[in-house]
Amino acid sequence: MAVLSEPIQEPRVLENHIDGYWEPSEGPLRDVVNPAKLTVIGQVPLSTEAELDRAVQAAQAAFDDWRRTPPLARARCLLRLRDLMETHFEELSRIQTQEHGKTIDESRGETRRGIEMVEVAAGIPSLMMGTNLEDVAAGIDEFLIRQPLGVFGIIGPYNFPFMVPLWFAPFAVATGNCVVIKPSSEDPFSQVRVAELAEEAGIPPGVWNVVHGGREVVGAMLDHPDIVGICFVGSTPVAKGVVYPRCGATGKRVIAQGGAKNFALVMPDADLPHTIAACMTSFFGNAGQRCLANSNLVVVGEGLSEQELDERYQAIAEAFVAAARGITMGYGLDEAVQMGPLRDPGKKQGVVRHIEGALEQGATLLLDGREFNLLGDLPPDAFLGPTVLGDVTPDMAVAQQEVFGPVASLMRARSMDEAIAMIHANPFGNAASIFTNNGLWARKFRYEVRCGNIGINIGIAAPMAFFPFSGMKDSFLGVLHGQGEDVIRFFTESKIVIERWF
Ligand code: NAD
Repeated sequence: MAVLSEPIQEPRVLENHIDGYWEPSEGPLRDVVNPAKLTVIGQVPLSTEAELDRAVQAAQAAFDDWRRTPPLARARCLLRLRDLMETHFEELSRIQTQEHGKTIDESRGETRRGIEMVEVAAGIPSLMMGTNLEDVAAGIDEFLIRQPLGVFGIIGPYNFPFMVPLWFAPFAVATGNCVVIKPSSEDPFSQVRVAELAEEAGIPPGVWNVVHGGREVVGAMLDHPDIVGICFVGSTPVAKGVVYPRCGATGKRVIAQGGAKNFALVMPDADLPHTIAACMTSFFGNAGQRCLANSNLVVVGEGLSEQELDERYQAIAEAFVAAARGITMGYGLDEAVQMGPLRDPGKKQGVVRHIEGALEQGATLLLDGREFNLLGDLPPDAFLGPTVLGDVTPDMAVAQQEVFGPVASLMRARSMDEAIAMIHANPFGNAASIFTNNGLWARKFRYEVRCGNIGINIGIAAPMAFFPFSGMKDSFLGVLHGQGEDVIRFFTESKIVIERWF
């Protein structure tokens, strides 16, 4: 195995960042474990309600000055943060691999995406402009101005510990709000580093706070009277069952992004080598722990006979399995590794139960990821190889539920309408992809499919920072999305001024 440089050398106890100070929490501590090596890399506190309250009070106190800071001056802080992130690009990426397990290339991709959020948010003087119209009635002019609202809570998931809070925080701060970020307690290190850099970039004390913790801190955020809005990304049971209703009850604006079950349709004319290559990163990238990962591949027989569909299905299954079999697994800091472990052994067991359940329901095992080789001498507990299930039908649990691991379900549909009906029968609506060279099929897919992010010959339909990160049905609760113009509107009140002078 190559020599690896690990930025987290000594285990340490993480602290909260409140009002510009790093403070130990009085809450109980929980180990943070590098899943590839099963070594403890630090401890994260499960902070108390009082600590969350202090962070909110600090943010509230900082808000008055920060909202009066000219947008261009706020943008300069973000540009400095961008520069610092570039300087520390490799360190930030390596931290993510240590805390989460993803490969270093996947971490670099995540760092790049996070930096792009900061870059786009730095355009705030233009992005935040309002509109006006003279003479809406005789001698009367009307203006729309965008004003920040106060303190926002940001709650992140474990699968993109660096990037996801950055879908929101730079835009919140750019618009003149203050934030309290609660990173996932499973991999909180990269958010600590981001907050350190934000401070170094000159973002004033109290504007960018971090409070570690679990569901208790989330509960305290949802109920806190001085938090005006919540940005949540995580599983659907928490988004739909906890965050969205509690924000409704306490009158907060909310973005609640939930889980996913994404379909990829492979049409009869799809270019096979390109499709298979795109599917490998889509189905198995980040060890399948991506809300935009495809997990159901539907071979569509539009215009084909039963026998032709069968032959096409066999050809795709063979090519898919051959490519998946070649994926190298190990510690993500080794540049030769293409897939890391799941976040922890318990998550692996959950995915294994999905595989067993699918086999009991009649799926066939085309590639068994429960048997695998690792590059290097590593504990196998959190690793699971790419798994390919054949003859999956839409009624099976593995086809309906979010598995969140490296498991591909191969299915067939006689027509495009049948395949789209499968997508629509699923409660999630995060993303869907089609592989085809036929513009009419591509347009029908884009037009009809009720999913927020559509890929056409793209396996991971990830919106850039200047477009909203969409989502529908059980994958998204709310109105305005993260990123892009939506998030500027989310973080500001549209105030109307109607003016007449005598
Ligand atoms: P999770 O719902 O378990 O946790 C998300 C956050 O909520 C964490 O910070 C956690 O501490 C907190 N939390 C957990 N349980 C809670 C509870 N009962 N009450 C209050 N807070 C609670 O999600 P996860 O396992 O960290 O992340 C994976 C999930 O996130 C997957 O379902 C994935 O699809 C989803 N996800 C969605 C998107 C998207 O854009 N839609 C993006 C990334 C991840």
